[in-house]
Amino acid sequence: MKLSENAIKVLEKRYLSKDENGNLLEDVEGMFRRVAKEIASADEKYTHKAGLVEIEEQFYEMMTSLEFLPNSPTLMNAGRPLGQLSACFVLPVEDTMEGIFETIKNAALIHKSGGGTGFSFSRLRPKGSAVNSTGGVASGPISFMKVFNAATEAVKQGGTRRGANMGILRVDHPDILEFISCKKDNSEITNFNISVGITEDFMKAVEYNLEYELIDPKTKKPVGKLNAKQVFDIIVEMAWKNGEPGIIFLDRLNRDNVTPELGEIESTNPCGEQPLLPYEACNLGSVNLYSMLDAEKNSLDFDKLGLTVKKAVHFLDNVIEVNKYPLKEIDEMTRGTRKIGLGVMGWADILCALGIPYDSQRAIELAGTVMEFIQKNAQKASEELARQKGVFPYYEQSIYAKKGIRIRNATTTTIAPTGTLSLIAGVSSGIEPVFAISYIRNVMDNNELIEVNPVFKKAALEGNFYSDELMKKIAESGTLKHIEEIPEEVRKVFVTAHDVRPEWHVKMQAAFQKYTDNAVSKTVNLSHEATTDDVREVFTFAYRAQCKGVTIYRDGSRDMQVLNIGKVQ
Ligand code: ADP
Repeated sequence: MKLSENAIKVLEKRYLSKDENGNLLEDVEGMFRRVAKEIASADEKYTHKAGLVEIEEQFYEMMTSLEFLPNSPTLMNAGRPLGQLSACFVLPVEDTMEGIFETIKNAALIHKSGGGTGFSFSRLRPKGSAVNSTGGVASGPISFMKVFNAATEAVKQGGTRRGANMGILRVDHPDILEFISCKKDNSEITNFNISVGITEDFMKAVEYNLEYELIDPKTKKPVGKLNAKQVFDIIVEMAWKNGEPGIIFLDRLNRDNVTPELGEIESTNPCGEQPLLPYEACNLGSVNLYSMLDAEKNSLDFDKLGLTVKKAVHFLDNVIEVNKYPLKEIDEMTRGTRKIGLGVMGWADILCALGIPYDSQRAIELAGTVMEFIQKNAQKASEELARQKGVFPYYEQSIYAKKGIRIRNATTTTIAPTGTLSLIAGVSSGIEPVFAISYIRNVMDNNELIEVNPVFKKAALEGNFYSDELMKKIAESGTLKHIEEIPEEVRKVFVTAHDVRPEWHVKMQAAFQKYTDNAVSKTVNLSHEATTDDVREVFTFAYRAQCKGVTIYRDGSRDMQVLNIGKVQ
């Protein structure tokens, strides 16, 4: 297998089985064998021994060729005693002391197994409301978020990776202003990403500069009013300062809720790409688009992509079967809807290889073509599975029953950040632009190593302009923008996250969202000099472009974040 030194280091540290003294019990191929065998075993009831071996080989081949990888918990835990394979969970937070602390306990169990949790705190009564049983007053959602945060901090040490949370509050909750500013101080609530749950009514009120009502979730009665534009401006200001809060569009998440009879979607997982019902979990997986390059024809190999999508859907559907869920309620919900989330990584790399600039109309069009193809093929594969193995148990309560489409998975597509997966596969993460064309990495004994984007290295060697000095020069800023010794066509194609203007980030997110059942993880990068007006424009544009949410990050605006892409966690 072709793995970078960095990838091997990450795998050895967190993914490979070890004995109690920390000695490795398997190598990387051994890990993939363990995973392939366990996931194939879900087919025991449907096939004979030879068939099972064939399926195991397919899965093994697909992973070791780095064409497809399942999310981290599947790699870490499949075929091992813990057996918890999902990355994403949403838990309900009820407005009772028992409910709140039950959820904290459940979140701790999920974090221990490498999963991330999302919560909506919108059902909690506002700060200062009466507590009947004690005669005291409630301390409000933000005070409880701090307890969730402290619990996550404590579990961090013992788990497979540090826990990550998403905290959401509806924009019409009476404590919304406190929520928007709750991460103003960078050292607070560090284990949470936060997002404001925005409604279409609110966005209309912003547009017409109107007031909107704050609703007490307990009594369902209006308890006050705020000017929508002013609230929006505070969200913008905070996001500009700190990258948080993000925003999610609740009505859009629920417009695409395929099982509305089972409940309302009120939260997503930590990075925002997976809206879920309370107690639902979802396992993700990503196709490495760079590995779908037909180098001879200099095009994307759609036949190979179609086949890979089919096998990946089979794989992810099997994960649901062999998964050991941390709670009875999660077991029931997750097996009930059988949601899977197949996405992509290596998008920027394949664009570079094809000579298409990320920030171009051609790239946006190709994004739509590729994702539409993936979505169609994923749904087709799920329909085939339904014919063989049956539809998902809550099918009758879904929109598919009304349409007469017999499908095995309530959703099939999601675009994950692929923070660690892309590092293992050695490609650009998710649908993000390349972060740096080359960068300096400190290795042991204070030695410096220059890491060069492999697609760029190939282009530089082919174009006869590769040199160590040049790579060092590029590493100083990461970008090629001002490096004149590089041909202009190459500079146009190899753009980095910071070269790409914010509207192109949003356009790309929207292009993928159009053909994704769930949501898209994407960060819109802004330069340090960007203004609050720029942030407001991004938010408004993302809303108009039918995104399901948006996260921005202004360069240098904070030094701590929940998930550090590319770092060994
Ligand atoms: P990976 O590449 O490791 O499979 P991603 O970066 O694609 O993971 O993240 C997918 C989802 O996995 C996140 O949205 C979150 O739900 C979960 N996740 C990622 N990192 C963590 C973490 N450190 N702790 C808990 N959950 C995480």
